[in-house]
Amino acid sequence: MACIIDGKELAKKIRTSLKKEVDELKEQNIFPKLAVIMVGDDPSSKIYVRNKSKACEEVGIEYEEYLLNDETTMEELVDLIDKLNNDDKIHGILVQSPIPKHLDINKAFRTISEKKDVDGFHPTNVGKLCLGQNTFVSCTPFGIMKILEEYNIEIEGKNAVVIGRSNIVGKPMLQCLMSKNATVTVCHSKTKNLPEIVKNADIVVAAIGKAKFVTEDMIKEGAVVIDVGINRGEDGKLCGDVDFENIVNKAGYITPVPGGVGPMTIAMLMNNIVKAAKEMYR
Ligand code: NAD
Repeated sequence: MACIIDGKELAKKIRTSLKKEVDELKEQNIFPKLAVIMVGDDPSSKIYVRNKSKACEEVGIEYEEYLLNDETTMEELVDLIDKLNNDDKIHGILVQSPIPKHLDINKAFRTISEKKDVDGFHPTNVGKLCLGQNTFVSCTPFGIMKILEEYNIEIEGKNAVVIGRSNIVGKPMLQCLMSKNATVTVCHSKTKNLPEIVKNADIVVAAIGKAKFVTEDMIKEGAVVIDVGINRGEDGKLCGDVDFENIVNKAGYITPVPGGVGPMTIAMLMNNIVKAAKEMYR
């Protein structure tokens, strides 16, 4: 039976240690603060935003929310981001995706000051990640790297397979694993022979968005299986991209959904806000 990775507990540990750092910053009159912009009323986004505000409260990070309606124009969104960029009380800014289709999410991401880009989506920060420079690392891949580190999972020389090539998970995940000397293969919707490729992996990261896409026959005995997916199964329950029940007896390590990668993503967002606050006064 695999070791079931406890992302919830690890995230709690990280938040506790961040709280200490925030308390120290407050003694120096630095009050870390996050501004979140949400456009429209996507129901999943509401849950994510609520979880982020709860985490901020726990860590002692100040929090401000901007709820814009569906009819918001790109100009209005850019103006708001500019205003927040110029507000020295704000250390981190994020635009919760998705935003309505008439708006350009990439333009929103690149309008956020790279120094306040706590999601790590600004092209400059993405470039710095590729170059191995100090930057804000996208929170989900960053959280996964933290899991691998905390559980002493060896990465160097291992075959890692990332399924999914999105800008926010798959691509930065490739960079993170490669920077730790894994041999990384990225699979996507056009990949041929995906099961054969995944079968060769010591570490599998599934970020597809399809319930139970990764099945037991694709997994090598003892592999590390990291499940990023958040889906609703046929039974209406939350489930990942991995067929957990049938893989748990074969894998070496596995993350559950919920309680695996999700809480770690938010913990690393908190980490990035504290980093932004510290670096602003350096
Ligand atoms: P996305 O839709 O942007 O990307 C999905 C990727 O999966 C694409 O690159 C696509 O090529 C690939 N894909 C689709 N069908 C495929 C197939 N049949 N075979 C192989 N690859 C296929 O999604 P995303 O934003 O990367 O998110 C992926 C999942 O992770 C979603 O369920 C999302 O909700 C979840 N997510 C969770 C967290 C977290 O904190 N736990 C964070 C971000 C995203």
